[in-house]
Amino acid sequence: MFYNEKSYVYLDGALVKASEAKISFYAQSLNYGNAVIEGIRAYKTEEGARIFKAKQHFERLQRSANIMGLDIELDPKHLEEMAYELLEINHLENAYIRPIIFTGDSMGLRGLSKAKLFMGVFKWTNYLGKKPLRTCISKYCRPNSKTFPIEAKVSGTYVNSILAANHATKNGFHEAILKDDQGNLAQGTGTNLFIEKNGELFTPKRGSILPGITRQTIIEIAEEEDITLHEAMLTEEDLKNADAAFLTGTAAGIVGIQSVDKTEFLTEGDELIYPKLTQLYTDLLRSSYSENYTII
Ligand code: PMP
Repeated sequence: MFYNEKSYVYLDGALVKASEAKISFYAQSLNYGNAVIEGIRAYKTEEGARIFKAKQHFERLQRSANIMGLDIELDPKHLEEMAYELLEINHLENAYIRPIIFTGDSMGLRGLSKAKLFMGVFKWTNYLGKKPLRTCISKYCRPNSKTFPIEAKVSGTYVNSILAANHATKNGFHEAILKDDQGNLAQGTGTNLFIEKNGELFTPKRGSILPGITRQTIIEIAEEEDITLHEAMLTEEDLKNADAAFLTGTAAGIVGIQSVDKTEFLTEGDELIYPKLTQLYTDLLRSSYSENYTII
């Protein structure tokens, strides 16, 4: 699904066939989740493939690796060049880019010899689909920032997202909305949350969220479009009293929320902000000037 016999990936500094790239069963990353990842997209533009906010993504990867103390030298500019090289070799323009920094064999929990870098590129459509989603408030809460470095994209942390997503699916919902351990709204399983109320936007403030690069892009677009946006502490009641709500992420794009538990939202209408935002965001992705947007 992610590669074929002709696909190439980067592994530990070398270009290798995707079908020949291997990880050991004894790797600490596989056993204990000590790895950091990024989720990046490239889009076909008039000037060829453009990686959206490459700098921000590769710098976040570097920050995540530093937070976890992974022993690897990373240069975001070089990582960006590697990604463009992979897009070219694999003949991809609209693609998802997945770097992973992982550790080698160990059954121990402490620091290790050098970490390694994997990078693959592949086709992937909007992972939550394009239709407004039926969601539920999850019984799981986001990890507390004292439990996990919540602003880093650490593989192990995703067990929380997997539990919430599976629980939502089992109960007939498309997606889960997680609160923080204090009961405030946090985010989706792999997305950030926005609420619309009386023509203004609200999004949970930083603290127990992964501050998404798409979230930041929405903040920038709102500013440019003179749309009032509040980064605030939000409650379940705020969400359920909203006019509309949507989720954002690199893999998901902007996707509307049809309902949360039994509360229904508007998903279309001239008064809604997010259909306009979706258009502006899509235009931005397809334009080569998108890289000029400010840094998260
Ligand atoms: N939260 C989590 C847990 C995620 O995995 C993602 C996807 N990276 C997001 C939020 C959205 O972040 P971004 O907009 O940077 O893709």
